[in-house]
Amino acid sequence: METDFSATIPDADDAENRLSFRRLLSAAIELRASDVHIDPSTTGFTIRMRIDGMLVETTRLDQKAGQRLTNQLKAEVGIDPGRNFTPRASRHSYKIGDSELDIRITLVPCVSGEKIAIRMLDPDRVMHRIEDLGVSKDGLQHFREWLGGLTGMFLVSGATSSGKTTTLYALLHELAERKQHVLTIEDPVEYEIDGINQIQVGRGHGLDFASGLKSMLRLDPDYMMVGELRDPETVDVAARAATSGHTLLSTIHARDAVSTVTALRNYGMTGNQIAVTVSVIVNQRLVRKLCTHCREKEAITDNERAWLEERGIRPHRDLWTATGCKECLNTGYSARTGIFEVWRLNATDYDMLLSGADERNIRRVLAQNHHESLVADAWKKIESGTTSLSEVRRATGALRADDWQL
Ligand SMILES: [Zn+2]
Repeated sequence: METDFSATIPDADDAENRLSFRRLLSAAIELRASDVHIDPSTTGFTIRMRIDGMLVETTRLDQKAGQRLTNQLKAEVGIDPGRNFTPRASRHSYKIGDSELDIRITLVPCVSGEKIAIRMLDPDRVMHRIEDLGVSKDGLQHFREWLGGLTGMFLVSGATSSGKTTTLYALLHELAERKQHVLTIEDPVEYEIDGINQIQVGRGHGLDFASGLKSMLRLDPDYMMVGELRDPETVDVAARAATSGHTLLSTIHARDAVSTVTALRNYGMTGNQIAVTVSVIVNQRLVRKLCTHCREKEAITDNERAWLEERGIRPHRDLWTATGCKECLNTGYSARTGIFEVWRLNATDYDMLLSGADERNIRRVLAQNHHESLVADAWKKIESGTTSLSEVRRATGALRADDWQL
């Protein structure tokens, strides 16, 4: 997608093609960008920003202006102005206007020059309450029941950049307010939460998730959050911690709630361990919200109808669609929300896990018990005009139609 935002960064248009580092940061805040990329090429520099998850080109600078911006950035953050030959990353705090901004800068030498990536760590963007995530009323009820009893594992699954961490942080906020002893191990710690002890693991910190989790257990926490279950060792320690009565939150890579069980089995958990320890599995994606200033209804196409019907949904004649206006920078979308599948495991589910039931059988039983799939939740948000069908298709690309065809 290419949208011309040069008007939004006025300095880039002036006679000297002068764009200051601070002006770039405030433009990124105005545009709600999560990342800024400054990419060198033989002809100049391209600046791109990630807005609502999509990468858009915002401006181009000639060699001189681009080099000036790069040098200014290095001076601001204290990096040697000469050409560097090793990648480096650093974290900085800025006051831009009224807001405090944390940024993480990564500088990587490329053939054509130094590529710079800036991650904007604005806490307001990730600090949601569970009510603001986009979870349905029934789903939210499962969240609250778990928070009421607080036992076993609460797992959030999805693909990369599906908002899993935001959901965990929202739950951590609930726990922090209860004055409980909460420990997290994360790679990296992106947002600090008052009242919670956060431990950073990963390269350069001499700790991995498995060893971090082991030392965490000795600190006697009420609740624990592990950034990600991504290897058999971590899953093994997590399973043993949960079996011995600890409450644990984590994320895991899986395409839907039921396949999360398969992911756990592949990491070595037995059906018995899963049944004893797992309380709630959430699966989610992020979708862009339609711009309320310009969204319009359009007749559904045969292809769209077929896609929905394959997933057991009978669509109406018209669907909301994005057109684009000044308010949404011509993208048709503004901000994002989540689509969710929330599975609170019950006695029947535990019996199925103990008997080693496969994914197809588990889905069949869940569907009979009115379980809401990810696409079913998404459909409600399409019907209400919160998002578009094309956006949901993009976000759920990896889900097969027959996953929920019974
Ligand atoms: Zn619009």
